[in-house]
Amino acid sequence: MNSYSLERDLVELLGRGAVSSDESDLRRYGGDALGTFRAFRAAGRLNGRAIAVAWPQNVEDISKSLAYASRQSVPVVPYGGGTGVMGAATPLDSAIILNLGRMDRVVRVDTESRTATFQSGILLEDAHRALMAHDLRLGHDPWSRPIATLGGAISTNGVGYTASGHGAMGDQVLGMQAALGDGEIVESWAVPGAFFGSSLNHIFIGTEGTFGVISEATVAAFPIPIARSMVCFDFPEFDSGYEAISAIYTDGLQPTVMDYGDELVPGGDGRRDTATLYLVFEGSKESVEANVGEATAICLRHDGRRGSAAVIDRYWTDRHASAHRYKENVLDNERPDLARRSSSAYRMDYLHVALPTGRVLEYRKKCEALLSEEGVTVREWSVWGRPEFFSLLISPSDEVEGGGARLAQTVDRVLRDAQAMGGTMEYCHGVGLKLAHLVEAELGSGMAVAQRMKRSLDPAGILNPGKIWS
Ligand SMILES: Cc1cc2nc3c(=O)[nH]c(=O)nc-3n(C[C@H](O)[C@H](O)[C@H](O)COP(=O)(O)OP(=O)(O)OC[C@H]3O[C@@H](n4cnc5c(N)ncnc54)[C@H](O)[C@@H]3O)c2cc1C
Repeated sequence: MNSYSLERDLVELLGRGAVSSDESDLRRYGGDALGTFRAFRAAGRLNGRAIAVAWPQNVEDISKSLAYASRQSVPVVPYGGGTGVMGAATPLDSAIILNLGRMDRVVRVDTESRTATFQSGILLEDAHRALMAHDLRLGHDPWSRPIATLGGAISTNGVGYTASGHGAMGDQVLGMQAALGDGEIVESWAVPGAFFGSSLNHIFIGTEGTFGVISEATVAAFPIPIARSMVCFDFPEFDSGYEAISAIYTDGLQPTVMDYGDELVPGGDGRRDTATLYLVFEGSKESVEANVGEATAICLRHDGRRGSAAVIDRYWTDRHASAHRYKENVLDNERPDLARRSSSAYRMDYLHVALPTGRVLEYRKKCEALLSEEGVTVREWSVWGRPEFFSLLISPSDEVEGGGARLAQTVDRVLRDAQAMGGTMEYCHGVGLKLAHLVEAELGSGMAVAQRMKRSLDPAGILNPGKIWS
């Protein structure tokens, strides 16, 4: 189908002003935050050229667009904020980019039930602000809160600062409205608590726009706590701090925020900084005091030293700084396509695996040995949100020949090791183009079931093809 007739048909369906095939729009929405270096073997697939960008206003527009694309066998890539770091929102050749950015309404806030319904294209920051006006807040607070959308966060099952208290994004979803590949509109009943049968919500959580396009979601809204206390501790080495974290959770303490990690000292010849643990406790004044007291005793027993209030303040105030930088340098740039590429020229990768708590330190040792043998520098080790969520920030040393290709193989080994130890290769960013080749190894027979579901929910195979189930 040629681009002229496709654009004409979409304009007929959605109206003038809701469709564009301008070069500048195709460039702007022609990628996400996965750049060529981190993409490794998928780098060649970052240059797909979409035919048109379409901006639906409501679920009927989404439904009409999908039904049309199914009839014409044209791929559709749902697009939220374009901040995904795995290439999941990167278009394929001849695709329609379905940009949810104009579906950004607050549908309703139910203060009594503490739930809120939003259109899926709303920025997380705007959803949070809308709740703050009712003395409530959003339970998902990633670094990218100012730039990512609710639909994107659900579709990647993202993780944020308050995950220790409120869970990942998907844990907070109560109900959903979406359109399937052939345009059929489906809706789940937004009931908090238990349900029977299989949940419709889970079809769309973490499936990266391959089973349907989410138009609205009802999520839990959390009350602003009466009391809140933030503490931090420095540990002489990573392991002792990790053991303290493990003891905190074993004792049943439930911080809202838990963030731990160490870094290389810049120019320090491989020396590492002390590892720092940040904890936030919230609730009644008495429970916060008791929890802080107990967590402090545990940390001191594990050689922790209490950090200063100034360090804590800076940590919390700066938590969205990388998103503001990304917005300024890439999203607001006249040529986001070029800015994306240059921001990705930085030679590093970040891995976010989840493992049984009892195996995290063993896994870290294994990675340390493998990465040093391969000439890879670990800039940061960290644990975020749950003791199981373990991350590494790595870069190849300049002396290693064929750095990028060799790093790609090493990363695969590190991720396969996590799978072999009963873990998952990625806990918050999804799979996209970058990790699609490792999905089957992790899902096993679940992969064939997912592919059958895919054929049933998206019979023409138009929804974000070539990604997670390829
Ligand atoms: C500076 C920076 C910091 C980040 N920090 C974090 C962090 O702390 N935690 C974290 O988890 N991630 C983080 N990320 C990654 C990214 O912000 C998240 O993955 C986010 O959830 C993606 O949202 P988005 O709206 O940008 O989605 P997009 O990138 O537009 O899309 C992501 C996926 O969701 C699909 N999709 C989007 N909207 C819909 C919809 N309505 N229906 C169906 N499918 C849809 C897309 O097709 C794609 O597969 C960060 C990224 C950057 C650039």
